[in-house]
Amino acid sequence: MPIDPICKREVPLDTPYTSGHEGRTYYFHDTECKKKFDEMRKNIVRVKRSLKDKHKISFGRLRKDIIKPGICAACGACAASCPSIIMDGEKPKLVGPCTACGICYNQCPRTITTEEELFGSIRHPYAARSALKGVREQDGGVVTSLLAYLLEEGLIDCAIVTAKSEDDPWRPVPVIATTYDELIESAGSIYAHSMTIQALMNAVQQGMRSIAFVGPPCNIDAVYKIYKSPYGLLHMFMRANILPLGILHGYVLT
Ligand SMILES: Cc1cc2nc3c(=O)[nH]c(=O)nc-3n(C[C@H](O)[C@H](O)[C@H](O)COP(=O)(O)OP(=O)(O)OC[C@H]3O[C@@H](n4cnc5c(N)ncnc54)[C@H](O)[C@@H]3O)c2cc1C
Ligand code: SF4
Ligand code: SF4
Repeated sequence: MPIDPICKREVPLDTPYTSGHEGRTYYFHDTECKKKFDEMRKNIVRVKRSLKDKHKISFGRLRKDIIKPGICAACGACAASCPSIIMDGEKPKLVGPCTACGICYNQCPRTITTEEELFGSIRHPYAARSALKGVREQDGGVVTSLLAYLLEEGLIDCAIVTAKSEDDPWRPVPVIATTYDELIESAGSIYAHSMTIQALMNAVQQGMRSIAFVGPPCNIDAVYKIYKSPYGLLHMFMRANILPLGILHGYVLT
């Protein structure tokens, strides 16, 4: 049975919701999924047209410059932006046709990044510690406190955070947190790559429009690229507002 590329559910071949793209037929679960795909397809076609031939970049370039040298941060941004890429463990893998649109390369946080883009400029440094009771925080719990405030005030729909896997406590599991309890549960740090970008894209697809996003600098850079780069998917949709909270010891970078 084919898989709906938007909601990732299995769909019967006789579904009335189908779309064609570059000689291939895609099958959808319902009219909403088809609408999202058609919108995405239109935007991809537009970006492709705007790319001159000499700027065409394929998955091979991502493999050569980022994956093979071992500098991939396993953020999942490339897999989240292309149906032909999956994360095979911590490694991106091409499993479908590549049309050299360059989107994966252009929004990878490991390509073309300057120090300023990564850290921003520090305007006001503050020292703080959470006053929330029961927060199992890492370095003062400022991140968790800020998120709890944003959620309780209705300023965000959800926060992309990372919790410990129940089976394997050292394995980070990205979570779309919509409740205070989920935030408290995911306080503290897990020192391994968390595929936060996939969770962010899932939240956007679920209709969340104001999203706080927590991650180390490489993940934050992926968010900026997805959001601001002319090739970035959120730039094209402009349907969600993202508040990035970068984690470093004692710093919250926004
Ligand atoms: C993989 C990793 C590498 C780091 N490297 C450095 C470093 O080199 N130098 C430095 O100064 N600081 C680094 N930090 C940041 C630092 O260790 C603390 O995470 C930070 O100071 C926590 O601040 P807090 O007490 O306010 O956070 P808390 O209130 O405890 O909240 C931490 C937040 O981070 C989220 N989180 C936990 N694990 C991850 C993860 N793997 N990926 C994304 N989000 C996660 C949690 O869900 C929570 O929302 C790193 C953090 C991580 C996760
Ligand atoms: S995003 Fe574009 S360049 Fe990257 S693998 Fe997919 S089709 Fe190829
Ligand atoms: S986008 Fe993220 S997962 Fe993909 S190659 Fe770049 S760092 Fe690795």
